[in-house]
Amino acid sequence: MTLDLTPEQDQLRDAVRALGRRYGHGYFVEKARAGEHTTELWAEAGRLGYLGVNIPTEYGGGGGGITELAIVCEELAAAGCPLLLLVVSTAIAATVLNRHGTEEQRKKHLPGLADGSQKIVFAITEPEAGSNFHRLGTVARRDGDGWLLNGRKCYISGVDEAGHVLVVARTEDSSTGKLKPALFLVPTDAAGLTRSKLDMEIVSPENQFLLYLDDVRVPADALLGESLDAGLPALFAGLNPERITVAAMGAGTGRYAIERASEYTATRKVWGGRSIGSHQGVSHPLAHAAVQVELARLMIQKAATLYDAGRDLEAGVAGNMAKYAAGEAAALAVDTAVQVLGGAGMTTEYGVATLLGAVRAGRIAPVSREMILNFVAQHVLGQDKSY
Ligand SMILES: Cc1cc2nc3c(=O)[nH]c(=O)nc-3n(C[C@H](O)[C@H](O)[C@H](O)COP(=O)(O)OP(=O)(O)OC[C@H]3O[C@@H](n4cnc5c(N)ncnc54)[C@H](O)[C@@H]3O)c2cc1C
Repeated sequence: MTLDLTPEQDQLRDAVRALGRRYGHGYFVEKARAGEHTTELWAEAGRLGYLGVNIPTEYGGGGGGITELAIVCEELAAAGCPLLLLVVSTAIAATVLNRHGTEEQRKKHLPGLADGSQKIVFAITEPEAGSNFHRLGTVARRDGDGWLLNGRKCYISGVDEAGHVLVVARTEDSSTGKLKPALFLVPTDAAGLTRSKLDMEIVSPENQFLLYLDDVRVPADALLGESLDAGLPALFAGLNPERITVAAMGAGTGRYAIERASEYTATRKVWGGRSIGSHQGVSHPLAHAAVQVELARLMIQKAATLYDAGRDLEAGVAGNMAKYAAGEAAALAVDTAVQVLGGAGMTTEYGVATLLGAVRAGRIAPVSREMILNFVAQHVLGQDKSY
């Protein structure tokens, strides 16, 4: 692993940073408050090739890896625009399709994901199963040459912006015993698929939904991959990209908050001529948060490098650790930024308290800090599973 980015990655970082700053956190919050989406930013990022950086060139992408996508996620977040759908649609759906979809599915969906004209969201979480995916209750039953899906999903992000939902179900004959998942590309306008928007305490233009699948009929080619055997590897294929890019978003958000706060504390004077940042009670918490964010960034780089080198198992450990570290660091950075800004920290104008909900959610989703600690305890420390 090298600490230096390649010249191309450096250029990508600078270019995405410039794009993000042109829009900025004000734009992100304005869209959220108006109940609108970041359509312009998404379209421009797609036109410039940033949404497809990790998609192979033959499907209209940039041919890069998760390292490149993590750069895009981090820099947009560092500009105050943390876009969760980059994780859901670009990191998860595009990777799963590319690695386990049929050639037809790749040709049909990847070019649209790359240019930003299409989004595919991802639905695994269920009200009853929660973190225990072995309890998934959404069932796919054969129906003629197609499938009939029934079940419930919750907290599904971006359904209102997407053309398809990648639904994780289990087939009827596997409803007892170990989870044998099957993934289905379900059009968001499919008959029998309904949704209701959840009210979330997160300032974001991206929304979460409850999804109801009542006898949703899909054709045979909606099943992801060549056969039912593609399900489990496809599900796992999405995990590392998800953890690495969501960590990058967290690190970017942490950088954004620390930058906002440092600018403020370096110039704010309430005790004579000295800035409040000269008081270590103010500067040390900020410096501590900066250290945590930087450590998380290092782990993200390690995880992305391992993933792009095809070392999936090691990337799994590093990706989980990166996600944990970045989730904690982002929450610490935003909370510290709010504190050192004083009353200004709670205003919309200074643009940090608006991120409190998002960074808090980042310690729960897409995988909670506790489930990561379980993973590390079992797979790194060799401890028995308690559940
Ligand atoms: C903003 C947001 C966006 C989301 N987007 C999506 C999406 O697009 N698609 C999707 O499928 N899902 C999405 N989710 C769902 C998310 O992945 C889940 O909320 C998360 O996996 C936790 O599941 P749960 O909420 O059911 O918590 P539960 O499983 O009910 O857990 C509750 C608490 O108990 C802890 N816990 C549970 N089991 C254990 C254990 N064995 N050991 C220790 N602690 C444990 C958890 O860590 C958590 O703190 C989103 C959630 C949020 C908040």
